[in-house]
Amino acid sequence: MVVDVLVIGAGAAGCLAAIKAAEAGARVALVEKNDRIGRKLMLTGKGRCNLTNAKRWAQFSTHLHNKPSFFKPAFYELSNEATIAMFEKLGVKLVLTRDDRVFPESMRASDVVDALDCRLRQLGVQMMMGCDVNNVAAEGDGFKISYVAKSGTRFSSASVLSRTVIVATGGLSYPATGSTGDGYEIAKSFGHTIQRTFPSLTALTPAGYDIRLKDITLINISASLYVGRDMVAFEFGDLQFTDGGIEGPVGFKLSRRAVWAMINGDKVSLLIDLKPAVPLDLFKERVAREAAALGVSKYNFESKKADLLRKFMPQQLVEPFADSNSLNLVNLAATIKEWKFNIVDYVGYRRAVVTAGGVSLDEVVARTMASRNRPGLFFAGEVLDIDGDTGGYNLQFAFSTGALAARGAVQFLGLS
Ligand SMILES: Cc1cc2nc3c(=O)[nH]c(=O)nc-3n(C[C@H](O)[C@H](O)[C@H](O)COP(=O)(O)OP(=O)(O)OC[C@H]3O[C@@H](n4cnc5c(N)ncnc54)[C@H](O)[C@@H]3O)c2cc1C
Repeated sequence: MVVDVLVIGAGAAGCLAAIKAAEAGARVALVEKNDRIGRKLMLTGKGRCNLTNAKRWAQFSTHLHNKPSFFKPAFYELSNEATIAMFEKLGVKLVLTRDDRVFPESMRASDVVDALDCRLRQLGVQMMMGCDVNNVAAEGDGFKISYVAKSGTRFSSASVLSRTVIVATGGLSYPATGSTGDGYEIAKSFGHTIQRTFPSLTALTPAGYDIRLKDITLINISASLYVGRDMVAFEFGDLQFTDGGIEGPVGFKLSRRAVWAMINGDKVSLLIDLKPAVPLDLFKERVAREAAALGVSKYNFESKKADLLRKFMPQQLVEPFADSNSLNLVNLAATIKEWKFNIVDYVGYRRAVVTAGGVSLDEVVARTMASRNRPGLFFAGEVLDIDGDTGGYNLQFAFSTGALAARGAVQFLGLS
């Protein structure tokens, strides 16, 4: 069998690539190691799928890391507006929520996956599910793709020929969904450079992490990230303590820089301000007033500090906060505004939302997603060396680069 376009990986990028190539009239095969498409998509947005973000390019691009300009042609090939229109046309009603995030109205990721699945089948894309690609080799003007097919408990090796290949195998995060870095090996076999990968949007683990903090959410706090003595990032918003450490919107936003610093052997710390809206001087006065009202003095501070702390933080936080800080009436206000955590570890790919690093952008043409090393080879999605913040940026990157890679392949084949 010979196809025009073979897409490896049926995640967000691969599904879009297969749909767009088939819409352009190519014979398309979509190869996926899982037994159905979009396993990671089903987990996105806590099962609700924050499928894009409605911000305009100028703001959107500030949420991408490494080289946002590389993404511009793909964004204009399939913009966030075009993505919204496409899903609505596929029958998925969408809603705009806080911070320009876009979700299915049903808040069910399965609606997004089902719509993609339905469109792929409607277009006659050959769905090769349960097929794990283990080699892509140049064969004449095209490629020979070898894979192991799983059927029930039986495995068999086979191969397929294709004129072009789109690698959309994702990164390394949440390997249980099938994203196990296979695309890097395929890219390397064609001489591509893989920029160092590391987990991003993940939990930061403080030294001596007090597990009593688990499940506490801090609302409207601010956090400053220090690498050595330098403050390198500041975020305001909500933060969650989990079994892995510090995450939630604020933790996630800081995690990329923090993980990278740790990988480079730098000291990382986080200062959390539980009362960011009140300047320290005013806050000191407020603490003094509350202390007076409760009859707290330096003499009875130890026995009464919990009552005082309750005025400034949720009940569950009082004990862990008091135990992790050496408190007295004089330093209480400053400590509430500068609760220090030395970050010594992070939760790895097993639970990181996205993989930073990947196939070097220097070796991929931004206007087509084509490999500069091998004609007919294309890349799309998280396998590339770009990653985004939380908020729908990563899925839009996957959808848009998938669409552009399809156009690149179709043009290469002379079908458009
Ligand atoms: C828990 C979680 C929640 C998230 N929530 C959001 C969100 O709400 N909004 C957002 O924008 N982003 C979110 N993300 C990030 C986003 O899901 C990813 O960036 C995006 O799905 C990447 O798409 P992709 O198609 O490049 O890769 P993937 O979705 O990882 O798909 C790659 C596919 O390739 C297949 N594959 C890999 N190797 C092979 C092989 N050798 N042979 C055959 N098939 C192979 C895999 O099985 C997989 O199905 C979330 C991520 C996680 C983990």
